[in-house]
Amino acid sequence: CGIVGYVGHRQALDVVVEALRRMEYRGYDSAGIAVLDGAGGVAIERKAGRLANLEAELAETGTERFVGTTGMGHTRWATHGRPTDRNAHPHRDTAGKVAVVHNGIIENFAPLRAELENDGVEFASDTDTEVAVHLVSRAYASGDTAGDFVESARTVIRRLEGAFTLVFTHADHPDTIVAARRSTPLVIGVGEGETFLGSDVAAFIEHTRDAVELGQDQVVVITADGYTVTDFDGNEDVPTRPFRIDWD
Ligand code: GLU
Repeated sequence: CGIVGYVGHRQALDVVVEALRRMEYRGYDSAGIAVLDGAGGVAIERKAGRLANLEAELAETGTERFVGTTGMGHTRWATHGRPTDRNAHPHRDTAGKVAVVHNGIIENFAPLRAELENDGVEFASDTDTEVAVHLVSRAYASGDTAGDFVESARTVIRRLEGAFTLVFTHADHPDTIVAARRSTPLVIGVGEGETFLGSDVAAFIEHTRDAVELGQDQVVVITADGYTVTDFDGNEDVPTRPFRIDWD
């Protein structure tokens, strides 16, 4: 029900947890975070229940794994799969390199899951979401989009039906986050040497007032230095709505 993404110069863990706290008002049943360590690794923690459960888990297991300046977070309102730890986002591909958080519904997840399972992919959750992360992983592994994280994500997004905000990270591309939206909201926050994504401006309002609302069926790629918006096909000539957040 809430999504946040961050690429910048601060510790992503602090930024993401704070953002999730500010989006708690939206209502949710589980919460999770991912932080890229910049050296090919990603640390993930996710818990059913309140954000406080996730924070307690982090306090107990230690946050040493969560060193890094790229991360994302999620609060879930379950539509497919019960609200359990294993169904909480982020979800990962089998190799543990690609991660995804998702709000909304992927309507055609069943045939996509069947296709993946036929090819031997083992699913770790009951969500509609998980198909997206395995598909990106496979697009990245071979074919036209091999080795290209952004194109791999775009290729997969074109296959998805429904209403979704999706945010992808790849542990081997720690400077970049790729996100897309169709019929659900996504806003970019533009800071100095840091860029944010949020379901709404509450995710980053304390850090920047410069925001950009994504249009329907758009993909955004963020780095610490800024953002690029395209349509699902990669065309850059698309309308976006930059605005300044009014504090009151
Ligand atoms: N459909 C996804 C799930 O059930 C995402 C739900 C949401 O919007 O949080 O896991």
